[in-house]
Amino acid sequence: DTIGANLDRAIAAYPERDALVDVPSGRRWTYAEFGAAVDEVARGLLAQGVLKGDRVGIWAINCPEWVLVQYATARIGAIMVNINPAYRAHELAYVLKQAGISVLIASQAHKSSDYRALVNQVREQCPELRATVYIGAPSWDTLIAGAASVPVEQLAAVAAELSCDDPVNIQYTSGTTGFPKGATLSHHNILNNGYWVGRTVGYTEQDRVCLPVPFYHCFGMVMGNLGATSHGACIVIPAPSFEPAATLRAVQQERCTSLYGVPTMFIAELNLPDFASYDLSSLRTGIMAGSPCPVEVMKRVVAEMHMEEVSICYGMTETSPVSLQTRRDDDLEHRTGTVGRALPHIEVKVVDPVDGVTTARGTAGELCTRGYSVMLGYWNEPEKTAEAIDAGRWMHTGDLAVMREDGYVEIVGRIKDMIIRGGENIYPREIEEFLYAHPKIADVQVVGIPHERYGEEVLACVIPRDPADPLTLEELLAFCEGQLAHYKIPSRLRILDSFPMTVSGKVRKVELRETYAE
Ligand code: ATP
Ligand code: MG
Repeated sequence: DTIGANLDRAIAAYPERDALVDVPSGRRWTYAEFGAAVDEVARGLLAQGVLKGDRVGIWAINCPEWVLVQYATARIGAIMVNINPAYRAHELAYVLKQAGISVLIASQAHKSSDYRALVNQVREQCPELRATVYIGAPSWDTLIAGAASVPVEQLAAVAAELSCDDPVNIQYTSGTTGFPKGATLSHHNILNNGYWVGRTVGYTEQDRVCLPVPFYHCFGMVMGNLGATSHGACIVIPAPSFEPAATLRAVQQERCTSLYGVPTMFIAELNLPDFASYDLSSLRTGIMAGSPCPVEVMKRVVAEMHMEEVSICYGMTETSPVSLQTRRDDDLEHRTGTVGRALPHIEVKVVDPVDGVTTARGTAGELCTRGYSVMLGYWNEPEKTAEAIDAGRWMHTGDLAVMREDGYVEIVGRIKDMIIRGGENIYPREIEEFLYAHPKIADVQVVGIPHERYGEEVLACVIPRDPADPLTLEELLAFCEGQLAHYKIPSRLRILDSFPMTVSGKVRKVELRETYAE
């Protein structure tokens, strides 16, 4: 199926069920209404001259129009380019030019971001950009009004020409380890992945999925939106950008059955002073992904948020994204110690990064994945594509992993984050897990910083529970003494009030490393 054809099935099967709810504005669409709204945007884009293969940029915070544009572009075979709402002029210009975007759909403003002013700043540098449509502004009304000039038959004729192997989306990676790269993905790539992720958590048309994760990222638009609509479930938008209280309010108000987030989001929700006052009893499942989840957090998510079936996913933008996922009946140990096992139709192997030979079960190496989910390639970057995908179509993830006897995979860390101190390989994750148990530590990141004699030394960056009584280096050392091998014990400590983050909610370790290099 193409994404449009798959949506048509849900519309035919569940016309009266909710498809989309926007909690901040109170607007809601049944599947029949959602289908009609998507078609209106699709015809509006046709009226603006958008053709198959044209790049349509979406640069917006979470809102219903984001979702309409996602399905409308897929309906007409345009390639939607997701642009990170945190970008500023320089990065915006880069993406507009790199992807050759002709029509840009953008938010007007949000918090400190004036999207309109930023677009105006870069427009001259981007000759291919013909039109900008602002959500909620007269230009959006003009887009919708244009639909009237395009007969329904024309939309059907365009849709009939599409193939599921056509590119439908360019998604940029999070930029955790460097400059983001644009992964080109087909209908086949992302629709199948959304479907299998949803099926693995057991979605039906009864489910209501709360999405505080950004739509611009695959977590929101594939695992969230496509995961929900491919099973007739409902998408619930709690807020334009992540707010812990708004998220829990939306779960309570809309009786959501599923909640998504990266671990830091769940931590923020659990730490709300009035956490106990929310009724979260409708929750059954959810997805936690993107970065490792501390055991303590997982225990509280299961026990205090009622998410007994919460699923851990491992993936990357380049692989649509998910390749490993825990199953509904997995025990707590598998949900915290591993990121699950391969999804159906996806192959996974762990290889020695040097010679490429598959390692023995239980031995760390680079994780590689293969299957329908591997992207078509990085947009206009054949050399980078060739570095990531080998001749056998295996995607090299850059992550270190161990495969257990039972096929479940443990993520040890990123190859780039590994600390090498005096010849010893140190995986920051292991030290972070250990330090989480300290009562004075709310959150912690461990990175390597240069050291003359050892090559690197271990730095712990700590957000204290009580800023008035932060952890001292002596306390840290005493806590680790006799518990961790001496070379793993952090010799440096920094107390911070926040970490540098990507919009997808990941800590930019690369920035911590650079900032605290001396
Ligand atoms: P960039 O490639 O631009 O540096 P990024 O790799 O963070 O950024 P994404 O594609 O959003 O961009 O994230 C994929 C990465 O996220 C994986 O390679 C892995 O390192 C990490 N990751 C994803 N899921 C998990 C998980 N469940 N546990 C641990 N790490 C995870
Ligand atoms: Mg990456």
